[in-house]
Formats: sequence, structure tokens, C-alpha cells
Amino acid sequence: MYKELLKSKGLKSTPQRIMVLTTIAEGGHVDIDQLSKDFEEKGMNVPLATLYRILGELSSVGILHTVSLSGGKTKYEIAKGEHPHFLCEQCGHLEDLKVAMDDIVTIAQNACSHSTNSVSVMLHGICDNCTSNPTNLNQIKD
Ligand SMILES: [Zn+2]
Ligand SMILES: [Zn+2]
Repeated sequence: MYKELLKSKGLKSTPQRIMVLTTIAEGGHVDIDQLSKDFEEKGMNVPLATLYRILGELSSVGILHTVSLSGGKTKYEIAKGEHPHFLCEQCGHLEDLKVAMDDIVTIAQNACSHSTNSVSVMLHGICDNCTSNPTNLNQIKD
């Protein structure tokens, strides 16, 4: 299915691009370190620079959507329309919130006199998992 998707966006389907898309689709929200680890585990040695280039290409044609986290980190997800996110400040768990963004965005844009080109809504807090396991401080999961 990604073959067709890539083709429809004018990109050649290469094993690396397919693998990037598959990994992100499985993980939900994936950062470049996880991608690189996943490639390594599957015996594909792809330099970070190449991964960055692929992620850039897939984002610029709209197949991938980027989620900017504090500290300059970026997670990638398969684009599926704007949606708010929840981020756990303890374990880094990032979750999609199934809420229509339209109302929030319209109100915010009406209040903004500048021209805008993107909108993101991020709720920060502590996830249920961390609330019930307060000792799990260093667990990094998606
Ligand atoms: Zn958490
Ligand atoms: Zn998301």
C-alpha cells in the first residue's frame, strides 16, 4: 500500500522509504533514534543523515506529519489530519486525542492577527501508567 502512496506523491518506492513508513505506522509516533534502532535490529545499516533525508522527503509531500516536542525533539507519524496530542512529561508517551481541532483552531486563528501556517495542540501531564507506577522514571516508550 505504501508503494502506491509513494508513487501518488511522485516518490520512488525504495526499501528504505517503505521501511521508514512501516516502522512509523507500527509505532504510532516515532523519533529518529527509534527508527535508527529499528533499522539496526533488522540488519539494515542506514546512516542518520539518510534517515533525516527520507523523513524530510516524506514530510514535505505530506505522507508524514511531524510533532515537535520540547527540547527540540521531533516525532513523526503517518499524516491523518490535524489532531491534538497528550504528552507524558515523565515517560515521553505521546498519544493522539480523538477530538476535532476545528473549533479550537478557528477561535485561536480569529484571535491572531498574523498569518499562520500550522497549528498544534499539546496537552502535557502524567500518563495513567506513570501515575500507577511512580517508580518507572526512566522508562522511555512511545
Ligand atoms: Zn508516562
Ligand atoms: Zn498523533
